Amino acid sequence: MESYAVGFARPDRWSRGHPAEDGRPWHAVEAHRPPNELDGEVELAVCGAIVQVWGSQQWERVGPGRTACPDCRRLTGTALTPPLSRAG
Ligand SMILES: [Zn+2]
Repeated sequence: MESYAVGFARPDRWSRGHPAEDGRPWHAVEAHRPPNELDGEVELAVCGAIVQVWGSQQWERVGPGRTACPDCRRLTGTALTPPLSRAG
């Protein structure tokens, strides 16, 4: 199973006249190491955005939410609907 860290879009990407991304700042980052080790690192999200890893967040929790990047969601196969109780 692939694991993804959560990245936060860097403000300099959307503060200059492009507020479009403002509402969906969370991106998925392929995690080659545990997300808490990547905390604070600047990485490339799976959609190509430059983001800063937010090690305390989990993509499994953030991804299904409305504030997650739709491209990252599609690329990681994360459904928009929140996961129902998962067994095992
Ligand atoms: Zn993204």
